[in-house]
Amino acid sequence: MPLHKDDGIVLSKRAYGESDRIVRIFTLTSGKIGAIAKGASKSQKRFMNTLEPFNHIAIEYFEKYGKGMVRIENAHVVEANAGIEKTLKKVCTASFFTEFVDRLTKEREKNTSLFYLLKEVLTRIKDVEFDYHNILSYELDMLECLGYMPNFSACVYCGKTMMNEDRLYFSSERGGILCPRCSRFIPHKAYPGEVIATLAGLKNGHPRPVPAIDGEETGDRPIAPHGAGNGVFEKNAREIMEGFVSFHLDVEFKSYRVLKSLFQF
Ligand SMILES: [Zn+2]
Repeated sequence: MPLHKDDGIVLSKRAYGESDRIVRIFTLTSGKIGAIAKGASKSQKRFMNTLEPFNHIAIEYFEKYGKGMVRIENAHVVEANAGIEKTLKKVCTASFFTEFVDRLTKEREKNTSLFYLLKEVLTRIKDVEFDYHNILSYELDMLECLGYMPNFSACVYCGKTMMNEDRLYFSSERGGILCPRCSRFIPHKAYPGEVIATLAGLKNGHPRPVPAIDGEETGDRPIAPHGAGNGVFEKNAREIMEGFVSFHLDVEFKSYRVLKSLFQF
C-alpha cells in the first residue's frame, strides 16, 4: 500500500466506534475523500485539533480502508480554522460553503480551482462577517468552478447577448435569462430592472470584505443596486438562486436554512 501525501480542507467529522473518527476531506489532488483516523477520538495527542472542520491540513494516508475510505497516518495543520468559531454566523457561513462543496462534488473528482476558492472563503470568514452579497458572490464562483453557472449574459434559448437593462426574464428550468422575444413562449419569471445585472456583476467581482475596524466586524457592499434598495435585490436574488439550485442540482442545504434564519434573508 503506497503512502499518499496531499493537502486537504476538512469538510466534516464524526465519531466512529469508540475511538475512531471519520472525516470528509476535500483534497487538492484527489478531490473529496472519506477518511478514517484510527484512535483519533481516544488519544488526545493523536490528530489533536487537526481533523477539525474548516482546517487546511497536510495529510499522509493509505488507500483502501473498508468502503473506499482511506486511512490517515499523519496529519498536521497548514492553516487552522481559528477565528471562525468567534460567532455563530461565521460558523454557519463556513458550514454552508463546506456543505456546498461536499454535496456538489463527487468522490475523487479533482477540482483545483474549487479547492483554492474554498480556502479563500474560509480564510476571509475569519476576518470579516459576511453579508448576503459576500455569500452570493462566492456561491456564484463555486457554481462556476463546478460548471453549473447560471447564464446571466445571453438568452439561453436563442443565444442573443443581452444588455444589462434588458436582463429581466429568468428561466429556472433553462438555467438563465431570456430575451424579450423568447420570453413570450418560454416559462420564466420577470424581475425588477438591475436585479439580474447585479447578480451577474457579483460573479467574479467579489465584494471585497473590509477587515474589521475597532473590533466591529463588517463586510462592505460595493455593489449597491440602485433602484433595488430595501431588500428588493436580496429577495429576488435569493429567489433566482434558490430556484436554480433546487431545479438543476436537486440539493437542499441544511446549513442554508440555518443561514437564512440567522441572516434573516
Ligand atoms: Zn432569445
